[in-house]
Formats: sequence, structure tokens, C-alpha cells
Amino acid sequence: MTQDQVAVPAVTRETIHTVDDDSFAEENVCIVTGAASGIGQAVALTAAENGLTVAATDYDEAGLEETVDRADEIGVAGSVAPVVGDLTVDEDIERIVQEAANLGSVKYLANVAGMQHIDAIEEFPMDAYDRIHQIMLRAPIYLTKLCIPHFRETADGRGCVGNMASVHGHYVTSDKVAYNVSKFGLRGLTQSIAAEGEGDVRSFSVSTGYVKTPLVTNQLQDTAEQRGISVDEVISDVMLGQSRVKEMMDPVDVANLFVVGFSKLGRHLDGGDLLFDGGMTLTYE
Ligand code: NAD
Repeated sequence: MTQDQVAVPAVTRETIHTVDDDSFAEENVCIVTGAASGIGQAVALTAAENGLTVAATDYDEAGLEETVDRADEIGVAGSVAPVVGDLTVDEDIERIVQEAANLGSVKYLANVAGMQHIDAIEEFPMDAYDRIHQIMLRAPIYLTKLCIPHFRETADGRGCVGNMASVHGHYVTSDKVAYNVSKFGLRGLTQSIAAEGEGDVRSFSVSTGYVKTPLVTNQLQDTAEQRGISVDEVISDVMLGQSRVKEMMDPVDVANLFVVGFSKLGRHLDGGDLLFDGGMTLTYE
């Protein structure tokens, strides 16, 4: 595996899985965070191809435009509406949910937005810790809080929150303390929603190993410097070293898991985690 093999692949109609589900209809809205790039963009396109109205949110306005353009190119069955907002700002979070509610019945929430910072605990800047915590844990909690009343108002009173966790919500690598703590917390949020949702408001998390996205390609150099190894060694030894499947996932592979979780196929998935890590965390040697 070399750097060429982590290039970010485009989402195509052929790679999107669709589920025949009565709730996958244009009157129902799915909020997707991080929708300007990588996994969030793939979730937005996949939810829209499944017939939903997607409120695609991110603070990267140009990236959101790309997502909308891509939806038009694919000719998705539903639609994608861009909602620009910064997840570190409470007023933006409130406006995102309000704008989504103006599009239809808010029924699904995909918390996908995220970022990374690489530093040892002793050197870890607390402002970077706070920012990661705000985007990757506090915002999902606040969005959930604001979405639940909308879920209860839908035709069948049901809704679902899908949270993008990671293998880093199961075990950890060094120098990513804020990321690790956020992902463990996100699994706690997932289970808390299930505990209070009475089976009508469901929740699930998705935990993957490395996925071909800009978040991964952008951390190759930092990780190489931190560990004193080459970028190719970061890919083959650090990222895929413990995985039995020697290939990174495509963003759409992850997006399809959100579709399963949101759909009737996920009816009994409540508080659980979809661990799709190529055997990374459950095997060794
Ligand atoms: P990405 O960098 O491609 O996308 C992240 C998106 O989040 C970007 O569009 C960015 O603009 C947005 N974002 C960041 N800060 C924001 C803010 N303050 N307000 C609004 N939007 C903001 O990364 P990705 O790999 O697609 O990651 C998406 C999620 O998947 C993250 O939660 C990440 O932790 C998780 N994840 C990624 C991998 C992987 O290998 N790529 C593996 C497991 C989990």
C-alpha cells in the first residue's frame, strides 16, 4: 500500500446501497454533519439516493457546494440542501436544526464531523482538546437534544441517531488523546440515547478502521514525523498493520452502514456499535 492507494474515491450511484423503507421518503429529513467531505459527504449522498431530504451541514461552504453538485451529477432520488454552520457555535447548532425542520420532518441525525490533532499528552494543547471535544462530542449531544422532539413529532413518532465512532472508541493509539476520549464518549452517548429512547428513538454507532478520506491523508506526514518513520510505513504498519483486511474502506462503504442502521433492517440495532474494522481490534499476532 502506498500513498496512491489512499486517494479519496468519488461516490457513484452503483456503490450506494438502497433499502426499500417506507420512512425513506422526501418528507423525512436526515441531518448529516461533516457533509462537505469524506464520510459525511458519502452519508449525505447515500441518504439522498435512498429518497430522503438531506440537510447537509458543515462549516466548509465550498465543500458543501461540491456535495450538492455531486448529488446533481448522480441524480439522487431525494435531495441535498446545504446548511452552513460551525459546530463549535451553539447558535449555529440551533439554526441547523431549525433549517432542517423547515425542510420537512426531522427523523434522522448522522453525527459525522470530526478532526484530528496529533501530540503526546504532555504537549497536547488544551485549546485543541476543547475544539475536538466541542465538535466531536458536545455538538452531537446538543444536536441530539434538539432533534429528539422533532423525531417524536414525525408520523410514527420514531427517529434515529447514527454516530460516527471509530476503532479509537474501542482501543487507542498514542498521541491522539482528544480523539480517543471523544470516540469513547460518543459510544456513551449512543447508549444513553438508546436507554432513554424506549425503542422509538434509536441510536447506533459505526466504528471503522482507516477510511480513504482527507482526514487520513492529512495526518500521514505528522504521524511519520512523530514516529520517525516514512509515510509509506505509516500506511502499512501503523494504519493497516493490525488489520487482517489489508485495504482501507471507501467512504461509501461506511455510508452504506448508516443506511442499514437508519432503515427497518436496523430495527433492533439500539445502542449497539457496528464494528467494521477488518479484524483490527479483535485479533492480534
Ligand atoms: P474529513 O476531514 O474528510 O471530514 C470531516 C468534516 O468535518 C469536514 O468536512 C470538516 O469541514 C467538518 N468539520 C470539522 N470541524 C467542523 C466544525 N467546527 N463545524 C462544522 N463542520 C466541521 O474526515 P472524515 O475522515 O470523513 O471523518 C469523518 C468522521 O469519521 C470523523 O468523526 C472521524 O473521526 C470519523 N472516522 C474517520 C476515519 C477515517 O479513517 N477517515 C475512521 C474512523 C472514524
